[in-house]
Amino acid sequence: KKLGIALVGLGGYSTYQLAPALQNTQHCYLAAIVTGTPAKEKTWSQKYGIPQKSIYNYQNFDGIKDNPDVDIVYVVLPNSMHAEFSIRAAKAGKHVICEKPMAMNVAECDEIINACKASGVKLGMGYRLHSEPFTQAVKRFVREKTFGDVIHVSSDAAYRSMGSPGQWRLNRKLSGGGALVNMGVYAIQSSIYATGENPISVSAQEFSTRPEYFKDTDETITAQFEFPSGATATMMTSHNIRANRLHASCENGWFELDPASTYIPLAGRTSKGPLDFEQVSQQQLQMDDFASHILYETPNLAPGEMGKRDMIIVEAIYKSIAQGGKRQELEFSNSYGFS
Ligand code: NAD
Repeated sequence: KKLGIALVGLGGYSTYQLAPALQNTQHCYLAAIVTGTPAKEKTWSQKYGIPQKSIYNYQNFDGIKDNPDVDIVYVVLPNSMHAEFSIRAAKAGKHVICEKPMAMNVAECDEIINACKASGVKLGMGYRLHSEPFTQAVKRFVREKTFGDVIHVSSDAAYRSMGSPGQWRLNRKLSGGGALVNMGVYAIQSSIYATGENPISVSAQEFSTRPEYFKDTDETITAQFEFPSGATATMMTSHNIRANRLHASCENGWFELDPASTYIPLAGRTSKGPLDFEQVSQQQLQMDDFASHILYETPNLAPGEMGKRDMIIVEAIYKSIAQGGKRQELEFSNSYGFS
């Protein structure tokens, strides 16, 4: 059986990554679309053979509860709309994939998690890297101590934003933040899976060189983490710099990915030699992993609690910056025991 996915929001990511990936998935397929742009209804239904009864807009979306073709709702909207549509999807009895960053703040993450629990539906994050072989190799090195204990991780996740200053990503009301919530979540994630631990503290700094463009959102942020084992990590995220890498210094060597979180092919090497894996669409692997979690009870590789954990760290980073770089202690309950 293949599960039906409804894509909510047909912007760049749905158009160029998710819908094409859904043509090759084994355990799920593109069953429905939800869009606020009437012109897209026609082009998408023609291109992907979506029947009229499976086309929704933001107003009549709740009717999706009566559509047996839809098992999973995938929320691919601006960040400020993630909570609303994830909760409406859960209330419609559909499993939910929520894009990153999970929501605008930790309180909204809780609301999404609680709505999914109340409806008995599964919740996964759009964290595609957990299904991807280079990232899985990093996790294996950490788990198996291939290079001994990890001592320090350095990660960058950044790009140079040149588009319209009016875009939603630069509008705090729609994005919830700048580089940190957009790309920084990848650097936070790298720091965590490359050490295999959740951090116990974070200190952060913000830098701005184009304030006329970044009027409303953060341009560049650096942060430092401490981990229970004594390992440390430093991260940089920016909407003004091209950088995408992860480097781990270990007791007996090192490993690195560069790029580490783009969806064009990742690459990596270690002190023992290069890494080489087949390049498969990360989105295809990710959506198949989530569908197989529902169908066959395989692990949920990126559960909602992981999205919430990262949002707790995002909030602590902004708090540290507001307090002039003051160290913030972080505490996570056992339910955040994954990396
Ligand atoms: P986009 O700007 O290309 O598309 C946004 C979509 O939302 C458009 O279809 C737009 O019409 C619709 N929309 C509805 N209300 C809107 C409003 N008030 N303002 C602006 N657009 C509105 O964005 P995108 O790149 O597709 O990103 C969508 C989500 O997916 C974001 O949460 C983003 O963080 C996430 N994303 C994740 C990845 C990943 O690798 N996991 C990659 C890209 C984007």
